[in-house]
Amino acid sequence: MGSQLRTICSIALRPLNPEGFPKTARSVIIRPAKSQAPQVKERYRSHSWTMTDLLATPDFLVIGGGILGVSIARELTRRHPDQSVQLIEKESTLGEHASGRNSGVLHAGFYYSPESLKAKFTREGNHELSNYCLEHNLPILRCGKLVVAKNAKQVSDLKSLFDRGLKNGVDLQWIDEVQAKAIEPRVKTFENAIYSPHTASVDPLWVLKSLSNDAIERGLRIQSNTQFLGVDQSATIRTSKGAIRPGYTINAAGLYADKVARAFGFARNHRILPFKGLYLYSSEPAYSLRTNIYPVPDPDFPFLGVHFTVTVTGRIKIGPTAMPALWREQYQGLNNFSLRECFDVGCRTAKMLCGSDALFRRHALNEIRKSSRRQLVHLASELAKDVHVSDFLKWGTPGIRAQLLDIRKRKLETDFVIEGDARSTHVLNAVSPGFTCALPFSRHVIDFVNKMVASAPSHHSDPNGPTGRSLNELSRRADPSRAS
Ligand SMILES: Cc1cc2nc3c(=O)[nH]c(=O)nc-3n(C[C@H](O)[C@H](O)[C@H](O)COP(=O)(O)OP(=O)(O)OC[C@H]3O[C@@H](n4cnc5c(N)ncnc54)[C@H](O)[C@@H]3O)c2cc1C
Repeated sequence: MGSQLRTICSIALRPLNPEGFPKTARSVIIRPAKSQAPQVKERYRSHSWTMTDLLATPDFLVIGGGILGVSIARELTRRHPDQSVQLIEKESTLGEHASGRNSGVLHAGFYYSPESLKAKFTREGNHELSNYCLEHNLPILRCGKLVVAKNAKQVSDLKSLFDRGLKNGVDLQWIDEVQAKAIEPRVKTFENAIYSPHTASVDPLWVLKSLSNDAIERGLRIQSNTQFLGVDQSATIRTSKGAIRPGYTINAAGLYADKVARAFGFARNHRILPFKGLYLYSSEPAYSLRTNIYPVPDPDFPFLGVHFTVTVTGRIKIGPTAMPALWREQYQGLNNFSLRECFDVGCRTAKMLCGSDALFRRHALNEIRKSSRRQLVHLASELAKDVHVSDFLKWGTPGIRAQLLDIRKRKLETDFVIEGDARSTHVLNAVSPGFTCALPFSRHVIDFVNKMVASAPSHHSDPNGPTGRSLNELSRRADPSRAS
């Protein structure tokens, strides 16, 4: 009993917000809710009171209510119907960050090197999410996409992109200028273009809502306005709404995934560098373009360049930019400003700008120029005819990419990164096309969790506690020979 009280006091006395999460976070003092107080006092007197009486103890805890957190939670409820799954989200609703602020494009999967996770999951994810939308009557516009070249050098880059796409098993067509114009009369290209018939547009928030409903129907508990603040040595998680002692934790916290991971001892050599994406909407009538139009991407950067997207409702937008942001949620003005974050992010970006990486410098400067409406429209006008600044007056909702930087190599990671052990798994660098990849990626994350658990020592300090229960169940499923 005495040791339990000591644990409670030590949690209560922890300094405010030690991991530097944003200001909305409050320190967690584990106290019973007022309505519970007399009961708890009674139990305390009768010596039957235990720490777990005050804690939520789900078998699985998912941190982050974006597309990945929700898809992972959904997959957990499918694979482990008899275990409890809880998701915490710091905002009041799901999809407030990248998952609700992206281009809404289901990519086909030809940009990524064939051995990458991105290549595999994009192809599968495109197919699965397209079918999911059709089966669930969610809006989807199967408008395809043209990738165009500006000059002879770009035609050769385009050809490499096409060959890579074929290696990735993506259905693509190598077409000439006349064929490209038959698909979209306004397109501009030099001699050739790639046509991707399976690229589609969806409404990301509708998809997210539908996936979360699937999971809720199977028992997922979503707790919004609940921010992860830290974890102590007994694997008890501190949140802005109290403590949770999960059996297993999966971190899908997007822009804060590296911080959450570090609280568990992971992501030591990684930091998230936020890159902001701005969009401009056209005032032209819906479906003024029939298809998405993209430039040949710069192979040295993980971003696709300014392009035309036909949204699921037929509106035309250009963007997104990829300019370094000064803090993680720097959407507008000083909203969500954090001095500490601004300092950290500013120092990292300055180091990259002043370091030996001339490519990064060139990229950052180019991107900053794109915050000018004129410049953005100018770039778009290289892809299609009749593009006028006067038609592009309305800025759209910006999004921010949670781009992972390897701080030892000073390199931006290009593929998804997953780290973990027998108690927690961390999804890092869930950048584009993370939305398209969500379903196969979430299965991969759960397979990874199973592997981590199966390779852990089979005995556990508290086999009947939530951690012990989940791990035993998981290791039994991962390796049936370990069934006790
Ligand atoms: C501008 C832009 C355009 C894009 N376009 C496309 C596209 O067209 N197609 C595509 O496939 N992908 C696209 N992407 C990528 C895609 O949006 C992301 O890969 C995907 O949304 C990542 O999902 P997520 O769940 O990891 O992150 P998020 O959506 O950011 O979710 C993370 C969640 O974690 C929560 N959280 C953070 N910290 C905490 C904490 N401490 N406690 C509790 N909760 C926390 C956040 O509030 C957030 O809701 C784009 C991204 C951007 C930024």
